[in-house]
Amino acid sequence: QTSVVAAASSRSEQLYNRAKKVLPGGVDSPVRYFEPYPFFAASARGSKLVTADHRTLTDYCMGYGAMLLGHGYPSVLDAARSQLDKGTLYCVPTELEIKLAELVSKAVPCADMVRLVNTGSEATMNAIRLARAFTKKKKVIKFDGGYHGAHDYVLVKAGSGAASLPASEGVLEEASAQTIVSPYNDAAELERTIERNRDDAACVIMEPVLANIGLVLPDKNYLSDVRKITQQNDTVLIFDEVVTGFRLALGGAGEFFGIRPDLATFAKALGNGFPVGAIAGSKEIMQQLAPAGRVYQASTFAGNPVSVSAAIAALSTLFEAKDSIYPQVARTCDSIVEGIREELEDIGGINCTINSIGSMYQVFFTADRVRDEASAKKADPAKFRKLFDELLRRNVFIPPSQFETCFVSYAHDEDDVDRTVDAYSEAFKKIKEQ
Ligand code: PMP
Repeated sequence: QTSVVAAASSRSEQLYNRAKKVLPGGVDSPVRYFEPYPFFAASARGSKLVTADHRTLTDYCMGYGAMLLGHGYPSVLDAARSQLDKGTLYCVPTELEIKLAELVSKAVPCADMVRLVNTGSEATMNAIRLARAFTKKKKVIKFDGGYHGAHDYVLVKAGSGAASLPASEGVLEEASAQTIVSPYNDAAELERTIERNRDDAACVIMEPVLANIGLVLPDKNYLSDVRKITQQNDTVLIFDEVVTGFRLALGGAGEFFGIRPDLATFAKALGNGFPVGAIAGSKEIMQQLAPAGRVYQASTFAGNPVSVSAAIAALSTLFEAKDSIYPQVARTCDSIVEGIREELEDIGGINCTINSIGSMYQVFFTADRVRDEASAKKADPAKFRKLFDELLRRNVFIPPSQFETCFVSYAHDEDDVDRTVDAYSEAFKKIKEQ
């Protein structure tokens, strides 16, 4: 089988064959692999990613949502560059960390206090620990298809790369048994589950908008119902805003939907491509973190000055230009989705559902509404795979899995929209011929 990505050259194939010998599966994160082998990246700028085979692709993976401002956003790069000469790691506090925490606190309604970490997984792992310490309860409730990183208590019926692996080997049954999974968009079922576990349910952790099982939006009033149910049962509500944070709105899904969780976790768009994450929430809960309190969380690289400088620049840009950035990315995304819908109508005979919100969208090959993990999994995976291949052939790169989301950035322009809609149209025609 030859790869559509390396048709003109075999550089990616050569690199993959070399990678396989030293990197398990040839990659450093499983979602990066697709058959027969992934293309390798050489560089990226704006909305474009250049492959090792010298192909220029319009990118809708965008660092799985991290690159809200686009690849290589000038003020973010300048901030990181100017920090490099001053030092890359001190392991004593800096004013930079205060500045970033102040910006997060100003942007995010629930963020009385902030702890900076490096990744989304670190943020969710410690948010759960905080919730357990605060409630003195054990169990974690998550939703079917929700992804919160690659650690033990949340790798249970998870989305993203784990959607094809219902339980990871090496995770203790004793750990998984502490996690209860409930269907998304079903407040009545959540209420029954929490009431059954009233003395045990430490937290509900959720992506307010599911973005790792394809894209799935909350039904009207669902999030406010979840807020009510958790409050009534002394259960901490954690919004995992690793995808939605700073993307759906400057204040994330919390601001967008007007819901105040007890804790929220961030990464991705916070650093616009630099590794930085955050746990944020009410003072009462956050003050439990050592050294203020007795919940231990620590990291050598936390508050890394280069990442933090980049994040300050990213958030400053979002604050300064929020009135143009958020409407623009939503308009670009809407144009793509409307364009795709029109093409589908013209072509006819292909059953598709498209979910979109803000700067995110995903196409599902099913006629039914997609509103939870079960309905997402009804979509035809073979057709999605064909869509991915045909788009890539036409220089459009979407995440390789149905169980991910396409991301539009501030760098995507009308030209990108036109070319992308054309590529979808051609791809749909090929799918119809199949
Ligand atoms: N939560 C959500 C909602 C995510 O989408 C992800 C990553 N895709 C994570 C947590 C984990 O973040 P990281 O990969 O930075 O550890």
